Amino acid sequence: MARVLPQVTKLGGMALNFLFPQWCVGCGKEGGFICSSCYNTLPSIVPPLCPKCGRPQAGGILCSGCVSWQAKIEGIRSPFRFDGLIRQLVYEFKYRNIRALAAPLARLLGNYLASNPVPLEVLVPVPLHRKRLRERGYNQSGLLARELGRLNSLPVVDDCLVRQQPTPPQARTTTVEERKNNVANAFACRDNRLRDRQVLLIDDVATSGATLDACAAALKAAGAKTIWGLTLAREI
Ligand SMILES: [Zn+2]
Ligand SMILES: [Zn+2]
Repeated sequence: MARVLPQVTKLGGMALNFLFPQWCVGCGKEGGFICSSCYNTLPSIVPPLCPKCGRPQAGGILCSGCVSWQAKIEGIRSPFRFDGLIRQLVYEFKYRNIRALAAPLARLLGNYLASNPVPLEVLVPVPLHRKRLRERGYNQSGLLARELGRLNSLPVVDDCLVRQQPTPPQARTTTVEERKNNVANAFACRDNRLRDRQVLLIDDVATSGATLDACAAALKAAGAKTIWGLTLAREI
């Protein structure tokens, strides 16, 4: 079976694997969700990083984009570039309804946090607009947050921050400025439950960081103390 799986069409083979996660998603080797050699080939983002946006940056200083970015978010961190096997996994998780991926993907986030700690007391997933949630049936970020919360014994608050406006899908050609305007007032907090709390926002992928920052603005308006963002993958 281990030798046969990788030759099944890539995505079909992966889907099968998630139902029976005893084979590596990368090479099909028997043993677990991902074998150590495939784990080592994942597109990791390694320091030095821009302390704000978390993109690789020589010297670990603020990158040129962040010097003028009036961000509400303390910083964004992501273990991986949105590339290769990670890109496939996020796609499967988000669009092909393979919810069983939440636990192993959250484990990757947990591993990252263990060696790259940020201040946090409570996890808050980036919410979907209720219309999108109805279409998709689940919020992939909510599943990640719940699994990460279970792993690290952290509370998850997924009914305070809400997305009030559906945002048009962000075409690759939109500028950072346009993205920021698209999401600027998209989020709000229902109440002040997160007042004085150190929040870690959870999402699957960050592109410009505009969505996470718009969430941070809404959380700060409701009194949250600090807001960091953690995403599985980062477009660079
Ligand atoms: Zn492997
Ligand atoms: Zn930066």
